[in-house]
Amino acid sequence: MRETASAGVAGRSTVKRRRHRAPFATGPGHELRAYLLRHSPSVLWALIIVGGLAITWLWWSSTLPPRSVGGELTEAGRLTGLYAGYLVIILLALMARIPVLERVVGADRLARVHGMAGRYVVSLVVAHGLLILVGYASTGHTGLVHQALSLLTGYPYVLWAAIGGALFVLVGVLSIRNVRSRMSYEAWYLPHLLTYVGIGLAFLHQIETGAQFVTNPVARLAWIAAYAAVTALLVWCRVVVPLRNSWRHRLVVADVRAEAPGVVSVYLTGSRLAELNAEAGQFLRLRFLSKGFWWQSHPYSLSAAPNPHWLRVTIKALGDHTGQLQGLRPGTKVLAEGPYGALTARRRSRHGVLLVAGGVGVTPLRALFESLPAAPGRLTLLYRATSPVDLVFRHELDQLAAARQAPVHYLLSQSEEHRGDPFHPGSLRQLVPDIAERDVYICGPSGMTDTVIESLRTCGVPIRRIHHEDFTF
Ligand SMILES: Cc1cc2nc3c(=O)[nH]c(=O)nc-3n(C[C@H](O)[C@H](O)[C@H](O)COP(=O)(O)OP(=O)(O)OC[C@H]3O[C@@H](n4cnc5c(N)ncnc54)[C@H](O)[C@@H]3O)c2cc1C
Repeated sequence: MRETASAGVAGRSTVKRRRHRAPFATGPGHELRAYLLRHSPSVLWALIIVGGLAITWLWWSSTLPPRSVGGELTEAGRLTGLYAGYLVIILLALMARIPVLERVVGADRLARVHGMAGRYVVSLVVAHGLLILVGYASTGHTGLVHQALSLLTGYPYVLWAAIGGALFVLVGVLSIRNVRSRMSYEAWYLPHLLTYVGIGLAFLHQIETGAQFVTNPVARLAWIAAYAAVTALLVWCRVVVPLRNSWRHRLVVADVRAEAPGVVSVYLTGSRLAELNAEAGQFLRLRFLSKGFWWQSHPYSLSAAPNPHWLRVTIKALGDHTGQLQGLRPGTKVLAEGPYGALTARRRSRHGVLLVAGGVGVTPLRALFESLPAAPGRLTLLYRATSPVDLVFRHELDQLAAARQAPVHYLLSQSEEHRGDPFHPGSLRQLVPDIAERDVYICGPSGMTDTVIESLRTCGVPIRRIHHEDFTF
C-alpha cells in the first residue's frame, strides 16, 4: 500500500501527463460553467426570496383588512407562522446534502446559511406563538392564560405544535455561540436532531388550522408537496445514497501511517472508487465501523488526489475522536458520505494559482497541489506551521514542488524569518509577485483565513477569486 501511495504522490507518469494538458479548461463551455458557479449563491438567494414573496402574496390575497388591534396581531401571527414554515423547508433543503449544492456552494457556507436561517426560524416561531396568543386574547377579550389553555386544548394539533416550538427554542439556545463553545460537538449535535421531531409535530397544525390552507386546497396541496419533497430529498441524500455507496464501494482501512506528532494518514481501499467522482479539495464524512467509533461520522478532506485504487485522508488529533483515530487498525470497515465540498479546480478562473495552508488545513491543498494543472512557476504553496516537526507531507511536497516546478514556502512561526506576519500584503507580494493575477485557495484556522483574505484584497485579488474552506462548522 505504501509503495502504491508514494508512487501516486510523485509518480513520473502522473506529472508527465499533467504537463501536456492545458493549464485549466477554457472555452465557452467553461466560461458558462464558471459564470454559473460564481453566481450560483446569488441564484439560490433569488429563489429563496421569490419563494418568500409567493408566501407573502398567499397571505395577502387571502386576508381581509383587520378591523381591530387583535385582528392585526392575529394576522401578523399568521404571516410569521407562514414564514417560519417556509424557512423550515429551506433549512431542511440546505442540510439535505444535495450533491449539486454541496459542490457549488460548499458545505461550510451552507452550514453558515443554515445556522442563520435557524436563528430566524426560532425567532419567527416564538413571534408566531405570542402574536396569535395576544391577538386571539385581545379579539376574544380573555386573559392570556385562559386563551393559551383554550388554544392548546381546543384547536387541533396546537399542543403538538407548542411542544415542537419548545424543541426549536431548546436547540436555538444550545446553538448560541457561548453555550455551544462549552459543549462537545456530539452534545450539541444530538439534541439538534430534535428539530426534526419539532418539525413533524408542528406540521399538522399548519395544514389543519392555518387560515391560508384550510380555505385554499391548492395552497394546502402545494405546502404538503413541498414538505414531502424536501423530506424525500433528505432521506435520499442522507440515508439511501450513503448506504448504497457503502454497499457499492465497500471501503476499508488499508493502512495507517504516522505523518507528524499527533497526525496520521489513513489509506482507504474499496471497489469502483472511480465512480465516487471525488475531486481533489473535497472531503468525505467517515464513520469507522469499530468499537468506540461507529456512532460518529466526521468530515475529513482527501489529502491526495483521488485515484481508482485508494483514497487518503490525514487526521490531526484535536479531540476525542481524532485522538482515538491515531490507533485505528487496518481492516476496519468504513461508511463514507460524500464526496462533498466546493474547494476544487472547478472554482479556478486563472492560469496562476496560490494555495495558502495553515496547520492541518494543508490536507485539501496538498491534493490540489498535486493535481491542479499549472505551467512551471504558476502554482505556489504557502504553508504556515509552528515548527519543522509540525509540517505534514514535507517530503511529498518537496518532491511535488521539484517535479512540477511549483514553489513551496514553509512559513514557520518559530523561525526568525517568519516570526512576524508572513501574510502581510508586502510579504505576500514578495513571495508571489503576480499575486493579483491569481486564484487563491485558503484552508486553515479561521483567524488565519481572515488575515489572508484581508491582505489579498489589499494586494488587489478580487473576492471572487478567493476560495476558502473552514474546518469548523
Ligand atoms: C469540511 C471539513 C474538512 C475537514 N478535514 C479535515 C482533515 O483533512 N484533517 C483533519 O485532521 N481534520 C479535518 N477536519 C476537522 C475534523 O473534522 C475535526 O477536527 C474532527 O471532527 C474533530 O473531532 P473530535 O471529536 O476529535 O474533536 P472535538 O473536540 O469534538 O471537536 C473539535 C472541533 O471539530 C468540530 N467537530 C467535531 N465533530 C465534528 C463533526 N462530526 N462534524 C463537523 N465538525 C466537527 C467541533 O465543532 C470543534 O470545532 C475537517 C472539518 C471539516 C468541516
